[in-house]
Amino acid sequence: MKVITREGRAANAASEWKQTYFRNWEWQYGNDKEVIYYKLVALGCHPNYKDVDEAIGNTSWTNTYCNECNESVLKVIQLGEEPDYESSTARICKPCLLKAMEEMK
Ligand SMILES: [Zn+2]
Repeated sequence: MKVITREGRAANAASEWKQTYFRNWEWQYGNDKEVIYYKLVALGCHPNYKDVDEAIGNTSWTNTYCNECNESVLKVIQLGEEPDYESSTARICKPCLLKAMEEMK
């Protein structure tokens, strides 16, 4: 169980980007991957997620969707197994979590 925020994902974006696209000592999947990496690094250790989204060109590296209501929210709690292929993992927003607790009364 852990809390995942858009700002937290944004802070990890540069290192995760490099892990994904820098392999065998070279940048993979196009010349823009290195350019984007240095844009992410230039944003510093605590970048605003909007700046990260702009550097990458989409929200997929910072978004935090709730798996119950499918809303894009700033914070979710991750429940279940660590995310992996076919893992049982759910990311839930606070309103849905409170609703779930109400159901469990
Ligand atoms: Zn929700």
